[in-house]
Amino acid sequence: MQIINPATEEVIQEIAEDSPEAIAKKFQLVKDGQSEWAAVPLEKRIACIEKFYALLDTEKEKLAETLTMEVGKPLQQSYNELNGARKRLEYFIKNSAKWLAEEWITEEDATREKIVYEPLGVIANISAWNYPYLVGVNVFVPALIGGNAVLYKPSEYAVLTGLHIQQLLYRSGIPENVFQVIIGKGPAGQALLELPLHGYFFTGSYRTGKYIAEHTASQLVPVQLELGGKDPLYVMDDVEDVEAVAAAALEGAVYNNGQSCCAVERIYVQEKIYNKFVDAFVANAKKLVIGDPLDKKTEIGPLSRKEQVAFLNQQLADAKANGARVLLGGNSAGGKGYFFPPTVVVDVSHKMKLMTEESFGPVIGIQKVKDDKEASELMRDTPYGLTAAVYSKSFERAEAVMKQMNTGTVYWNCCDRVSAGLPWSGRKNSGLGSTLSYHGIRAFVQPKAYHLRG
Ligand code: NAD
Repeated sequence: MQIINPATEEVIQEIAEDSPEAIAKKFQLVKDGQSEWAAVPLEKRIACIEKFYALLDTEKEKLAETLTMEVGKPLQQSYNELNGARKRLEYFIKNSAKWLAEEWITEEDATREKIVYEPLGVIANISAWNYPYLVGVNVFVPALIGGNAVLYKPSEYAVLTGLHIQQLLYRSGIPENVFQVIIGKGPAGQALLELPLHGYFFTGSYRTGKYIAEHTASQLVPVQLELGGKDPLYVMDDVEDVEAVAAAALEGAVYNNGQSCCAVERIYVQEKIYNKFVDAFVANAKKLVIGDPLDKKTEIGPLSRKEQVAFLNQQLADAKANGARVLLGGNSAGGKGYFFPPTVVVDVSHKMKLMTEESFGPVIGIQKVKDDKEASELMRDTPYGLTAAVYSKSFERAEAVMKQMNTGTVYWNCCDRVSAGLPWSGRKNSGLGSTLSYHGIRAFVQPKAYHLRG
């Protein structure tokens, strides 16, 4: 398998993929190691994650550079991702003991009752490339703390980062027979589905997620899916500072080159402030620094995957054919690297794929709306259900819209944000189950009910 730098199209490294036989061997190894790991006291398991937390900081230069080289993420954003991952680790380090402790339901009755949380066993963590540290730690950290063994399959676009993670975990005291990286593309993930694992935790596209859920259904083990989105942002006419809201919306749309599951993917603006908003949005978008992702000043690097350039061009062609106007960007620059400029499109409608299908790039449609009712209806018109954002001076008015959203997350005067203390979950085609918060600690254990007499 070739690891290609998306900024230069050069091969960084060639690496052997794991065969199904090699994957089965890794499974046997961690299956044998899991029960010993589960017997290690919880404080010691947490202490390993504390070491991992420290190493993510001391090794950050090397880790950030590798991440930028293999996914094209601007270097500053690679540092931000590592810092974000450490914040999530802090949450798990501080809160896991509380949520994994045994719970007494009654100690007074003749039959005493308690709940004990036991690990699931060996779980698969099949992961995406866009935030390999963030979406990885959401799964393998609480899984390891909970006493599970993990077969971690990084995306084929973030393999070197996956191998760094493995090395750092081993240096932190996680035994080799408790954590193993699986190297490869789809077929390597497929090989995991054929093994008798005790849980499948997936981050990636709706298409693959649905396939995994269907393919593993007969195993009757937990399956969690963190999938894509088409997340809307609505700006009401009472916002005090239209320019500031336009700047925030732009950042939500183009951070990580728009390749975030919770990126702002479509914007609705109330007609009274529409022109002012669009002018400010375009003016800010023009200032974005595009270029070499290893340069710390760069805000927009290349897309991570080559096919994505053609995909975005197709979405734009479809929008233009249906009457949209492109105010900025629109054409990939050509030349070396998978670059695509920030692109702002108006006169859009839900007849266009740009407003209904996940773009996963720095391309955004802005639609004018009459009132909150029309905005709500358009925001809800999607098969996805990850996040929805509302900007308004009035909490009551914003809340009325937020309550109508069938999404796992809603935002008032913010967007494109994840917090370790809150559950991260998608509804409808955006996923199943939650990571982060206490829900994301309990997701990796199973309750055992004790009925005790005598
Ligand atoms: P993808 O579905 O193409 O790949 C994800 C993983 O699945 C990869 O590791 C891949 O090798 C593996 N895979 C592919 N085919 C498989 C099969 N048949 N069996 C088992 N595994 C298989 O997704 P991607 O391009 O890596 O990620 C982008 C998508 O992820 C976007 O839709 C994005 O919105 C979503 N995402 C969601 C979240 C979230 O928290 N909800 C976070 C990050 C990314």
